Amino acid sequence: MSKENKDYSRYFDFSDAKLIGESEDGTLKYRIRGRDITIHSQPDLLAEKKRGRQGIEVIYDHPVTEELSDFGLGKYYEIVTYGCQMNEHDSETIMGLLEQMGYTQATERKQADVILLNTCAIRENAEDKVFGEIGHLKSFKLEKPSLILGVCGCMSQEESVVNRILQKHPHVDLIFGTHNIHRLPKLVQEAYYSKEMVVDVWNKEGDIIENLPKKREGIKAWVNIMYGCDKFCSYCIVPYTRGKERSRRPEDVLLEVRDLARQGFQEITLLGQNVNAYGKDFTDLNYTFADLMDDIRKIDIPRVRFTTSHPRDFDDALISVLAKKGNLVEQIHLPVQSGNSLILRKMGRKYTREHYLELAGKIKKAIPDAVLTTDIIVGFPGETNEQFEDTLSLVKEVGYDAAFTFIYSPRDGTPAAVMEDNVPMEEKKERLHRLNELLGEFSRRSNEKMVGQTVEVLVEGESKNNPHVLAGRTRTNKLVHFHGSRDQIGKMVEITITGAQTYYLRGENKEWITSGGAASFA
Ligand code: SF4
Repeated sequence: MSKENKDYSRYFDFSDAKLIGESEDGTLKYRIRGRDITIHSQPDLLAEKKRGRQGIEVIYDHPVTEELSDFGLGKYYEIVTYGCQMNEHDSETIMGLLEQMGYTQATERKQADVILLNTCAIRENAEDKVFGEIGHLKSFKLEKPSLILGVCGCMSQEESVVNRILQKHPHVDLIFGTHNIHRLPKLVQEAYYSKEMVVDVWNKEGDIIENLPKKREGIKAWVNIMYGCDKFCSYCIVPYTRGKERSRRPEDVLLEVRDLARQGFQEITLLGQNVNAYGKDFTDLNYTFADLMDDIRKIDIPRVRFTTSHPRDFDDALISVLAKKGNLVEQIHLPVQSGNSLILRKMGRKYTREHYLELAGKIKKAIPDAVLTTDIIVGFPGETNEQFEDTLSLVKEVGYDAAFTFIYSPRDGTPAAVMEDNVPMEEKKERLHRLNELLGEFSRRSNEKMVGQTVEVLVEGESKNNPHVLAGRTRTNKLVHFHGSRDQIGKMVEITITGAQTYYLRGENKEWITSGGAASFA
């Protein structure tokens, strides 16, 4: 860790931070309001913006050493995960590491000896929720001083967040980031013995850490194929919190997918902030996302999904591979964000409305039964009503099955944050309402078209609302409720669709009926 970014004074805008020590590796020790704080490294937005200075290392690391393998024996952990699939998958790695240290997942909070909040920085309300939880956890820390309370994930990569924790939440024991999850065993040990707050957030462009243990459950698995993002959309904090685009080696991805197939997983979702950029950073081989999908198509795993795509990198080669189908399901998540080219330019999306519609048209031509879903932001700075109407008309033209819709939320440090956020909140809410109404209409219509069809459904479990009803998903990721027996969970079954709602379908389970089960819903 180089000396020059050791000057932490620009982070602490409060006078009573007393420097009490500095060790060889440049680690600094501060005392703030009676709490000693060890800072190995702290987030630096300026450094996180930079690209192209550091090479990418692929590290086949084994962080849980012999010495640490029984550190957690008889102890319990709890993880609270916020945000996207990437965070959920990171939490699986964090659980894998803690369980390799001997910890067991707590069944109730007061049992926990380690509580980690794996945070999301994508929107303001996500951050507010986390600070609410940190405040709420103070009572647990007072009751159990040996409890290790930690914050990780994307919020930890933000200077303002770490500053706020140092200032307002001295009961937090550990802060680490998205680049050094593999350091967790050591950091938990340090926080436990030192009784100090330990801060270790790396400002790296990013490496690839392989062979980390993962605690996966159920029949579906996440598989990272790449990390980070270089698109720098003007409203997005991800390129700063997740580092540069870096692809895992194809052989490592294929090895993991084959292993999951052997373990009997029925569905995998390939993860990346922008999966279509997979392979663009390879300097020693010409191997693209289309090549990877074509190789995964040959592996005996029933279903393969991927997220998230960027329209700018979604090429014809990928479309033709997806058109081969097999285990490559016909559901594509293709974020558009806005239907107006001027707003798209202000967002830094680097494609136009026309480009997007042409791409959606190409996909539907090559895969006629493909289902498209998307992400849309309303109320971006300067968005006029006419420009919003362009978003509505694009939704009608594409005919999405579903979408994640958001009101624009300024993120500190992003270019859009300095743009005048001049769309009144009332207007933003009104636009969001109109958009969700329209999307609901399309979702209902698409579901109604399925009535009478018999489709393959992967049975995921009992319906959240009725334990006597099973729930599963079609290849196009539509939720289906039907009667069945618990031993069908985890299996593919043929379901005849008998009814349609906006966000789910009802169906008849022939296999179960012929085995004497009840036909339809009571
Ligand atoms: S492509 Fe996605 S993750 Fe990357 S900067 Fe844009 S919105 Fe953020």
